[in-house]
Amino acid sequence: MTEQNSSALRVAVIGAGPAGIYASDQLIRNEEREVYVDLFEQMPAPFGLIRYGVAPDHPRIKGIVKSLHNVLDKPRLRLLGNIEIGKDITVEELREYYDAIVFATGAVRDRALNIPGVDLPESYGAADFVGFYDGNPRFDRDWDLSAKQVAVIGVGNVGLDVARILAKTAEELKVTEIPDNVYESLKNNQATEVHVFGRRGPAQVKFTPQELKELDHSDNINVVVDPEDIDYDEASEEARRASKSQDLACQILEGYAIREPKLAPHTLQIHLFEQPTEILEKDGHVVGLRTERTELDGTGNVRGTGKTTDWPVQAVYRAVGYRSEAVPGVPFDTTTNVIPNDGGHVLANSGAEHVPGLYATGWIKRGPIGLIGNTKSDAKQTTDMLIADAVAGNLTPRTHEGPEAIVELLDARGIAYTTWQGWYRLDAEERALGEAEGRERKKIVDWEEMVSHARAVPVCI
Ligand SMILES: Cc1cc2nc3c(=O)[nH]c(=O)nc-3n(C[C@H](O)[C@H](O)[C@H](O)COP(=O)(O)OP(=O)(O)OC[C@H]3O[C@@H](n4cnc5c(N)ncnc54)[C@H](O)[C@@H]3O)c2cc1C
Repeated sequence: MTEQNSSALRVAVIGAGPAGIYASDQLIRNEEREVYVDLFEQMPAPFGLIRYGVAPDHPRIKGIVKSLHNVLDKPRLRLLGNIEIGKDITVEELREYYDAIVFATGAVRDRALNIPGVDLPESYGAADFVGFYDGNPRFDRDWDLSAKQVAVIGVGNVGLDVARILAKTAEELKVTEIPDNVYESLKNNQATEVHVFGRRGPAQVKFTPQELKELDHSDNINVVVDPEDIDYDEASEEARRASKSQDLACQILEGYAIREPKLAPHTLQIHLFEQPTEILEKDGHVVGLRTERTELDGTGNVRGTGKTTDWPVQAVYRAVGYRSEAVPGVPFDTTTNVIPNDGGHVLANSGAEHVPGLYATGWIKRGPIGLIGNTKSDAKQTTDMLIADAVAGNLTPRTHEGPEAIVELLDARGIAYTTWQGWYRLDAEERALGEAEGRERKKIVDWEEMVSHARAVPVCI
């Protein structure tokens, strides 16, 4: 970080996912105030769900990190990783070092689904499985993939990611950045039938057309939709007319419903108008999923028909949405699971008044919906507000001066923080591991190993 004068603003951005990185970029590029940003991240590596959410067989999307590199290379931005705000440093403490704080802490956990049987051992949250296959050090390293028939609940892109990873072969995925432990588990995957369930119809699915189409790209997967599951009411037709993307998704589903079955070892069937009501158990293990048939009620919503079906499956994955977590010391709405805010300005729990100097952006601001691109416009709204507050003199100035003050605190606490230079070292190591096997990257999954590469002192010859 370059020298700065004391009239410059110092801002802490919490969370180095896309929202935090875009917000940091906008802050340091604004023309009204000189701003220096410290970007705090709890993981040893940056990029949030781009690294630990986007599926490994989506290299084009993962490639967004290349454009984010340009931001993190900038001199007024400093990455401080391996630091959990709220635990290693409190928000109250941070306020002494910064004029404003932007929370971009995203979401990593599963939203709850309250149906009987949800606590059975083979009932899995999608976020846990994603954390596993994307090599997040906070999640399990082994996964039981002995189920031959599997259900995935949820008709959004995360459900499709989970279904696709379960339906592909380990060899298909070996070319990606998956770590060895993930490949070893996937090699034992016995799933030949993957059933995806949604309670509403084709005009209500949340899949993006691209993800839906992509299912068919694997020679190992026969995608099936029952023609009975294609149905529209007046509101559904309106939804198709209103959204090109929704209409395209409907067309792709219709295409799957009418075509000849493809000869492939694995079947991935998308079931619509089937509302999951119970995960069935025998001797403490999953043996099926019960669903109730639904029908459109004319408004695009559905009602139950009372007709139930038991699907024999030995594992159930719940992809019904992600959930954000509270950061200690920051207001949090436990109903909507976001930081209460007014377009980005944090609001006190008790009511509508602003908490001076605190802002939110990304999934923690508006909930876990939307693509990486959406976080950019969202961040702009938040950072414009912050700069306007700074210009109006509405921020409470920091009491500690200079960029080194916070580093002294980290050092005094013995926190093994990682930096942007450290990411270059870890990145080089992962690329070297991948190159040795003819792929672009192989992820390092062990936390301590990540930190030790990131903090390694370069050898000068
Ligand atoms: C499984 C999955 C697949 C997806 N696939 C795609 C896709 O293919 N294409 C696409 O465009 N979008 C995709 N998305 C959506 C995309 O990931 C999100 O839109 C985006 O990541 C949200 O950005 P964010 O910065 O708000 O949150 P996140 O990406 O979650 O980043 C938040 C960051 O904050 C950090 N953090 C949290 N708490 C603290 C704390 N207390 N202290 C310090 N740091 C903290 C986290 O470690 C994380 O790095 C996918 C999402 C999921 C869940």
